[in-house]
Amino acid sequence: MSGKVIAIANQKGGVGKTTTTMNLGYALAEQGKKVLLIDFDPQSNLTMCMGIDRPEELDTTIYHLMMAVIEEKELQSKEQFIISNGKLDFIPCSIELSAVEVNLVNAMSRELTLKSIIQEVKDDYDYIIIDCMPSLGMLTINALVACNSVLITATPQYLSAKGLELLLKTILKVKRRINPSIEIDGILITMFTERTILSKEIVNLIDEAYGKQIKVFENKIPASVKVGESNLKNKSIIEYQPGHKVAVAYTKFVEEYLR
Ligand code: ATP
Ligand code: MG
Repeated sequence: MSGKVIAIANQKGGVGKTTTTMNLGYALAEQGKKVLLIDFDPQSNLTMCMGIDRPEELDTTIYHLMMAVIEEKELQSKEQFIISNGKLDFIPCSIELSAVEVNLVNAMSRELTLKSIIQEVKDDYDYIIIDCMPSLGMLTINALVACNSVLITATPQYLSAKGLELLLKTILKVKRRINPSIEIDGILITMFTERTILSKEIVNLIDEAYGKQIKVFENKIPASVKVGESNLKNKSIIEYQPGHKVAVAYTKFVEEYLR
């Protein structure tokens, strides 16, 4: 097998990237797929959600792998850098990853560093999901270069903002220059409340701004405090409370995603 690599991105913070990474990953794993999650955000939220309270104490994280590639050293073994957590495998991250951005500036093939790491594990998985950090810096560029497709998460308030335009521009730049086959899966609306804006209006808004070329997933993820609760339990909400409206929404979204 050669896994599909999905980057979950938006330079805006707190729009559901990490939560979506966990739930998409869990739903795919539940279907019997082999799934690897990569925490590619120095904040290490995904790593902590996976039950590691002190990421900075880990010997091998995505930071160490990135440094090994930059310094042209041999990559650590998979047993060292892949952690299994029940149904899911993941590569953790720690705050040190923030130092990589500086080291990348002078590195050869700096945009390809993450891709070369993923190359080593690609054949072991059906899906590899990268949880990006909230920025459009060199780390996120690495994720865009390494992926087959980008899934954008956004809250309703954020849709009309200029930020989405900048994100799409960046993806298109990467497509033109380095990763011609990159696709945009679409936009998943998270933390949706019926009060904020009607679904129809959202779709109209996107269509007006970007034409029909960007898909907005029909299934939206409602806002609920249960999400924070499930994070504290180190579980995706689909695992923590399968019947909850957010779990149902994520499950339906994954069906739509795979269609
Ligand atoms: P960052 O850019 O900081 O990495 P993010 O885009 O990864 O953020 P999350 O960490 O998934 O976003 O979510 C941000 C916060 O909102 C978290 O505290 C999370 O528990 C909460 N949250 C995520 N999804 C929902 C939801 N559907 N309803 C309510 N709260 C949510
Ligand atoms: Mg996050």
